[in-house]
Amino acid sequence: MVKAVVGANWGDEGKGKITDTLAEKADIIIRFQGGANAGHTIVNEYGKFALHTLPSGVFYDHTTSIIGNGVALNIPILFNEIKSIVDKGVPMPKILVSDRCQIVMPYHVLLDQYEEERLGGKSFGSTKSGIAPFYSDKYAKIGFQVSELFDDELLEEKVERVCEMKNILFEHMYKKPAMDPKELLATLHEYRDMVAPYVTDVSLFLNKAIKEGKTILLEGQLGTLKDPDHGIYPMVTSSSTLAAYGAIGAGIPPYEIKQIVTVVKAYSSAVGAGAFVSEIFGDEADELRRRGGDGGEYGATTGRPRRMGWFDCVASKYGCRLQGTTDVAFTVLDVLGYLDEIPVCVGYDVDGEVTTEFPVTRLLEKSKPVLKTLPGWKCDIRGIKNYEDLPENCRNYIEFVEEQIGYPITMVSNGPGRHDIIYRESKLSK
Ligand code: GDP
Repeated sequence: MVKAVVGANWGDEGKGKITDTLAEKADIIIRFQGGANAGHTIVNEYGKFALHTLPSGVFYDHTTSIIGNGVALNIPILFNEIKSIVDKGVPMPKILVSDRCQIVMPYHVLLDQYEEERLGGKSFGSTKSGIAPFYSDKYAKIGFQVSELFDDELLEEKVERVCEMKNILFEHMYKKPAMDPKELLATLHEYRDMVAPYVTDVSLFLNKAIKEGKTILLEGQLGTLKDPDHGIYPMVTSSSTLAAYGAIGAGIPPYEIKQIVTVVKAYSSAVGAGAFVSEIFGDEADELRRRGGDGGEYGATTGRPRRMGWFDCVASKYGCRLQGTTDVAFTVLDVLGYLDEIPVCVGYDVDGEVTTEFPVTRLLEKSKPVLKTLPGWKCDIRGIKNYEDLPENCRNYIEFVEEQIGYPITMVSNGPGRHDIIYRESKLSK
């Protein structure tokens, strides 16, 4: 049984926590896209961790953690991440890395930095981890696959060829020092030694696991609105954030994905530039940011303060639709307990016409939020285990959101811990 855990919005919805919760009953957890540019925050008995490359199941000793072929693999970051969790007392996890995974090269990170410098104020708000140059090279067919690290002749020839090409950009476009192919080759040899113990034919491994009836979780990074096709292009990420891509980025048949858990946060937050219709500012935003998530809404990788907004039904309905949602996990609801009234964005006003369908970026830029205000519940809902025990206004908020987005909310997360979860029956469940 394969399940995907993906985001409906701009990322940071709490996918890490939901994956960690579901991983208790899973055998295998796979990252299928993205790189170390975003992070998941996980709180468990070992402490608080920000994971960038490892899937959220690494803290259990019964799970296998996999880096799928669709991931932008930064080998030193993976290596340090493994070390940092083991150093904090977590047992050495079982980790597999796809032999078809491609490698984030040191020059990808440099190119990202140089390009952001060149763009100045017009930058895309990149985290400068080399992800966009990495995926560009992958599709330009000059990327390095993990399997190639084990073929010296091939590696040497390719390093020469790629350096020659990249050095033109480095020296002439960015006016920066050229790369030395010998140095790069030595770095790749180091990478080979770091990754060697984990390299596997992952799709074959998964094929067997599916036949054996294992429970497999596909863990997405970011959310629908950052998808390069269906998101707020060009303010998007460079790999697909949709559950459908889980089949490709892990190497399994699409029809094996039986459950798609779309994580939706009870309010909005976003990082980076781009239209954000329900955004709020000033003291209102500061308070929500300070109280948000677990210890404030600041990027897990970058520490950047996140942009804040009210819940956006239009964006979330769209986000759930493109994921192919079977279940919504509605997260971080406890944070809203301080508000007397909670505004919710129920429509977009585009040039005087109100719509509930998420528009293309050109029209998104012009959209104004249509807000509806719901009463708050003014208490702390952490620790509640049964849906019926939630305050009435809190249940009303959940049910209002469910009706607006049109997908069943079957999980409500009311705290950062792995057991802070309330399961509920939804009349929308099939
Ligand atoms: P991801 O990238 O989607 O995994 O999201 P983040 O790692 O940014 O998660 C959002 C933050 O919210 C993290 O600090 C989590 O520990 C925290 N979190 C997740 N679920 C809940 C919840 O239900 N309540 C609270 N208060 N915090 C939560």
